Amino acid sequence: MKSFNDVVEFHGHSCPGLALGYRVAMAALQEFGERAEDEELVAIVENNSCAVDAVQVITGCTFGKGNLVFRDYGKQVYTFIKRPSGDGIRISVDWKSSEETDEEKSMWDQYMKGDRSEEVLKAVHNRKAKKIGLILEARNEELIKITKGKMDLPEEARIYPSLTCAICGEKVMEPRARVKDGKVVCIPCFEK
Ligand SMILES: [Zn+2]
Ligand SMILES: [Zn+2]
Repeated sequence: MKSFNDVVEFHGHSCPGLALGYRVAMAALQEFGERAEDEELVAIVENNSCAVDAVQVITGCTFGKGNLVFRDYGKQVYTFIKRPSGDGIRISVDWKSSEETDEEKSMWDQYMKGDRSEEVLKAVHNRKAKKIGLILEARNEELIKITKGKMDLPEEARIYPSLTCAICGEKVMEPRARVKDGKVVCIPCFEK
């Protein structure tokens, strides 16, 4: 089982968004029991924030394998579905960070105005670390809402034949090829 440290290592820094993604992914695994080796688990993520990196490391649903589907809805919602049964859980993040103190607010204002003094940096860092700690220690009920049931599986990742772009000469998979002036071209050449 991968830890939060593994997630931080992959992502490159520790942040509240990553911690939320970690908790979401852990909740999904609790439900399903095991990490996806291949395509037995599919994740649909409705944002492309830091959190998604945690989902990839913890659940094994990755962009490259095609069992991570991005829907650009700008929502903190993550759906995990088992193939082929269609048993799924939808996890919606519902976490309110504690009210900031006046001191924290004013430090943040200064930071946003470009103040990078030691005092401001320390305050901002501490605030972030506090948030991460709260997220990692919260109970599931304080962080997320879970709905379970049968869900629609997204289409499986398929392998398509390649065509050669008539303009740049590079290969392009068939469903992404376009026709321009009667020639088969790739999207970047089509849009030029
Ligand atoms: Zn991050
Ligand atoms: Zn091209």
